[in-house]
Amino acid sequence: MKLNDLRILQEDSLNKQGFKAYNRKTLRIGLTGGIGSGKSTVSRMLSKKGIPIIDADIIARQVLDKYPIILKNIAEEFGTEFIDENGNLKRREFGSYIFSSEAKRKKYEDMIIPYIKKEIIISFHEHEKKAEKACILDAPTLIEQNIHKDMDFTILVWVDMDTQIKRIKGRDKLNMDEVMNRINSQMSLDEKKEIADFIIDNTLTLTETEAQVDTLVNLINGL
Ligand code: ATP
Repeated sequence: MKLNDLRILQEDSLNKQGFKAYNRKTLRIGLTGGIGSGKSTVSRMLSKKGIPIIDADIIARQVLDKYPIILKNIAEEFGTEFIDENGNLKRREFGSYIFSSEAKRKKYEDMIIPYIKKEIIISFHEHEKKAEKACILDAPTLIEQNIHKDMDFTILVWVDMDTQIKRIKGRDKLNMDEVMNRINSQMSLDEKKEIADFIIDNTLTLTETEAQVDTLVNLINGL
């Protein structure tokens, strides 16, 4: 997508959603993507431009310390072998275990996601107290978990599939089967494109992505 197309899309989104009505409070903006699409790259760019970021991955780690009941439930449901001698979750082993089965993953998500959502709301409130113009929630499964519905709008970092495959291979040193398994285990970027309000096309150079981020930041600051 060219920058001009992006502008048109953004203006359409604005009209469609009536975002101007959100002027009165801190804008809640969701940022999502697919594996290797460049969400972290765009998140860093937005942060450098002064927009505060809530990182759902960090929150997902923090809730385990803050709410010991989650680990207790994990031990009861999945077995104590996933807890080490210091009482911490063996993340790698547990991750492989739950990602081997959709049902196990769902069970684990049902245990942890209510706490993650609670902490996300607390973080948004902190930014609202500081009267920030906008705050971004960086969350890989924003759409899958339906959290995008609680946002004023959602940004998707999109790439075409060839680029996605090439970048994952380059970063994670995986073979083609491993890459495709990971891509196919997620909602596709094209499906997410239908749901998101703004698309950052990260297929081209970082400079071109940064230009789209600038457009977006100007748009947010102008709301
Ligand atoms: P994940 O959700 O899997 O962690 P992500 O969406 O956060 O991935 P990044 O880690 O930001 O993706 O990017 C994936 C890889 O592609 C990284 O190695 C990054 O440096 C590279 N990359 C990102 N954007 C570009 C770009 N526009 N041009 C070239 N390389 C890029």
